[in-house]
Amino acid sequence: MPTYDFRCAQCGHKFTVMVSISDKDKVSCPGCGGKNVEQLFTGCAVRTGSGGSCDIPATGGGFSGG
Ligand SMILES: [Zn+2]
Repeated sequence: MPTYDFRCAQCGHKFTVMVSISDKDKVSCPGCGGKNVEQLFTGCAVRTGSGGSCDIPATGGGFSGG
């Protein structure tokens, strides 16, 4: 089963879960239990265009952890 990285929009907690694609909608934040989570794409901080090419590498991003 694949793993996906998510970030909670409520508390900003980043976490990785192992779920099937059909269950991604059911993912909730393990920190606050919020359902408002957004999926992160490993290795890609910003996707440009419709091809999904990487413009900015995820490493060294400007996000501040909580
Ligand atoms: Zn949260």
